[in-house]
Amino acid sequence: MGSILIVAEIQKGTIREASYELAAFASKLGGREVTSLVIGSGVAGEAESFAKKGGGKVYVADDAALGDYNVDGYAAAIEAAIEATSPELVLISNTPSGWDVAPRIAAKLDAGFVSDAFDVQDEGGKLVFLRRVFNGKLDCKVTAETDKVVATIQPGATAPFEGSSDGSVETLSVDLSGVRAKFVETKVAEAKGVDLSKADIIVSGGRGVGDPEKFPEVIQPLAEALGGAMGASRPVVDAGWLPHEYQVGSSGQVVAPKLYVACGISGAIQHLVGMKASNFIIAINKDPDAPIFEVADIGVVGDLFEVCPALTGAVKEAKG
Ligand SMILES: Cc1cc2nc3c(=O)[nH]c(=O)nc-3n(C[C@H](O)[C@H](O)[C@H](O)COP(=O)(O)OP(=O)(O)OC[C@H]3O[C@@H](n4cnc5c(N)ncnc54)[C@H](O)[C@@H]3O)c2cc1C
Repeated sequence: MGSILIVAEIQKGTIREASYELAAFASKLGGREVTSLVIGSGVAGEAESFAKKGGGKVYVADDAALGDYNVDGYAAAIEAAIEATSPELVLISNTPSGWDVAPRIAAKLDAGFVSDAFDVQDEGGKLVFLRRVFNGKLDCKVTAETDKVVATIQPGATAPFEGSSDGSVETLSVDLSGVRAKFVETKVAEAKGVDLSKADIIVSGGRGVGDPEKFPEVIQPLAEALGGAMGASRPVVDAGWLPHEYQVGSSGQVVAPKLYVACGISGAIQHLVGMKASNFIIAINKDPDAPIFEVADIGVVGDLFEVCPALTGAVKEAKG
């Protein structure tokens, strides 16, 4: 059975949670040796942490020139790690840098490429990837005909690696003489309309709200009564009911307000990843088995069209 190479990603000096999720997938594919690569500048400490949390033997490509993302430099480091480990599977997170570098690596290796998978399984020794298609309506299974596969995995598709592991760290020397790309600057997109990342209280509506006109009637008044901002799940944004800046989740904003109220939201992993760090979560859903209740501090099983207006009224009354 082949081995797995995890390409860990550094964000603001630390390894992203998504990389620990890759470690969880790798450990699930038991029997395969796991090695990892940490790329950056001054990241030896992070490599040590990763080695103890599912990263296995961790190669660290530590160079001032790799401090900011640079596709040529990162590709050179990944190729050096591949040469050292000959993996059957290269796992990369499905993040903007992953979108950029992963296909290059696959093309260079002449490997199969699976993008945006949310699960990977071992079926009789064969790697089978699961991808969502048709806007999440269908799941499809993908296998590669090639001996080597490069796959990008959705952040938030699984829980991060839990527990501890016995790993080691080794420095990887990377030839950066062929680097032509130059990092210029990071530009943070200007927040339009609503900046959920700064809101202390967020009241989000999901597909359960059912109608764009109900947002200003039911969700917005509760948000305003609480002195908070309105948010939404992805189907609301996909349907054009609210603009993208309202979206909470893995492909929207990641928020951690003091209070998060989820109304008519089922609690899919991609939504949870964007709000589960909230200090206090209230979920209103008419389905008692909705997964959102697993992360809620208070769960209200009921019709949001009754519960939200009642709550809005009670908050207004309490505030006088
Ligand atoms: C690559 C990818 C990225 C994604 N990114 C995101 C993301 O960033 N954010 C995100 O949210 N999703 C994201 N998704 C989609 C995600 O998988 C779910 O499909 C989505 O979160 C479901 O949204 P929802 O909970 O609003 O809708 P549903 O899952 O349809 O849930 C609606 C809920 O409303 C409840 N309900 C219905 N009527 C009422 C009522 N009257 N009162 C109370 N409850 C009611 C139902 O019981 C149900 O639980 C992503 C998916 C993919 C594949």
